[in-house]
Amino acid sequence: MEAEANRHAFGERAYGIKKHHATRLHYDLRLEWNGVLLSWALPEGPSNRAGEIRKAIEMEDHSTANLLFEGVHETGPIMLWDRGTWEPQPESDDIASSLRRGVLRFTLHGERLKGGWTLTRIKSGRNAQRPIWTLCKQADSFAASRDDKCVLEKWPNSVSTGRTMEEIVHDWAERKDKHERQRKLFDET
Ligand code: MN
Repeated sequence: MEAEANRHAFGERAYGIKKHHATRLHYDLRLEWNGVLLSWALPEGPSNRAGEIRKAIEMEDHSTANLLFEGVHETGPIMLWDRGTWEPQPESDDIASSLRRGVLRFTLHGERLKGGWTLTRIKSGRNAQRPIWTLCKQADSFAASRDDKCVLEKWPNSVSTGRTMEEIVHDWAERKDKHERQRKLFDET
């Protein structure tokens, strides 16, 4: 499973979104870059409607080995909600510079989310606080219309196994053995 995260053509970078039921249910955006996963926590999840802004809290980088993980972490159950690849749009081709400036425009090639997106930093991380960004769908043919169902309601279950969060928790408890407990050491947060 881990190897699959890294099995993509040259120039393509892995992308994923986790649904994570920690103290509060939230989603985690992961963009592979420079050997790690850039990470943002999305308290309300993504919106597929153009112009609808969603808060994205910058988190520490995560290991690429965990991208496709699905199971119960010590912080709560984790579902793989979307997966695929991503690429910077031409104006964000210098990813390091875009991250420093606080505007990253990119294209998702996910199974659920596709097309153009923009991450914009609106607040720097000061005094141990995490930088706050917004995530916004760009207007393109992949954007949902006002009448379309919210993507989070449209696809509540796992993109890889179709399981509900309850089924992931149930399956995990059934398979709980020493090996599985070691998996909890993964640095998903
Ligand atoms: Mn999380």
